[in-house]
Amino acid sequence: MSSRRRLLPAAFAMFALAFTAGCGDTSPPPAPSTRVPSYIEPPLPSGAIAAQTHSSLPPDEPACSDPTASLRPNGTRTGPDLDAIRTRGRLIVGLDPGSNLFSFRDPTTGTLDGFDVDIAKEIARDLLGNPNAIEYRILGSADRERALQERTVDVVVKTMTINCERRQRVSFSTSYLEAHQRVLTVHGSGIGGLNDLAGKRVCVVRGTTSLDRIRREQPAASILTVPSWADCLVVLQQRQVDAVSTDDTVLAGLAVQDPLTEVVGPNLSTEQYGIGMPKGADDLVRFVNGVLERIRSDGTWNRLYTEWLADELGQAAVPPPARYQD
Ligand code: GLU
Repeated sequence: MSSRRRLLPAAFAMFALAFTAGCGDTSPPPAPSTRVPSYIEPPLPSGAIAAQTHSSLPPDEPACSDPTASLRPNGTRTGPDLDAIRTRGRLIVGLDPGSNLFSFRDPTTGTLDGFDVDIAKEIARDLLGNPNAIEYRILGSADRERALQERTVDVVVKTMTINCERRQRVSFSTSYLEAHQRVLTVHGSGIGGLNDLAGKRVCVVRGTTSLDRIRREQPAASILTVPSWADCLVVLQQRQVDAVSTDDTVLAGLAVQDPLTEVVGPNLSTEQYGIGMPKGADDLVRFVNGVLERIRSDGTWNRLYTEWLADELGQAAVPPPARYQD
């Protein structure tokens, strides 16, 4: 799809040339100002905002001892949050249905698939005896914390980094995947990493750790913010930006959708992914950490990693070890 998107304007230009030059027409060529443009700039995706030059950098992350330390599983299967989910009979999961490899619609079956979807299914399996007893709610990256604070979802399973800032508003499970922020660009762009983004146009999603890092570490980049990472791939394909920067996991999902793109440069950060839960839902947090303990030890994590991520991110990964605060 992406190469057709690029070829169409060129084909149109050739058609226009053949048309004006054809059939023994001896009239002089039209003045340049009246020529049909060979390429019309497509509109930006809905919700795109070209960020002004930022006068102030995002505040530094607040410190906390170890944001990835969570509540230890204690085998309990009851509590206010667990009981409410069981009474309802389904787990409400917030995620992004356009995140290739993590949570995306299989175009042939229409079902949601991916690493994050399968992690959510393991929670539903242990809590409700049915991996499919799930109601999905669509969330953009910037909607995740509010959905948990307003309790419109039970859990967020959406490539969500655990950090001290977010821990002030929501709770997290132990880490279930480690990622690293990097840069996606098109082959031959000359961009080899963060340093080359000075003066370049970079697409980033609002409400993410990726945006804060780019603003802090490459303030000379000109940033376009959009609602979803899939939007970033479109604006890269349309040459409206020069690069996209976020976690290597998310970038891998974009890169497999367009073979003319590549992930470049060194790791810019370590991102530990946690399952987001409402603050105070301690029974649910302990239960979910029990599910993660099980899938780390019974081979499920390795099976899911191999199925969804190993081809793009390497075979050698192991589940991040659990860290507890109690
Ligand atoms: N891990 C980053 C975050 O939680 C970016 C990934 C995403 O937007 O889903 O902000």
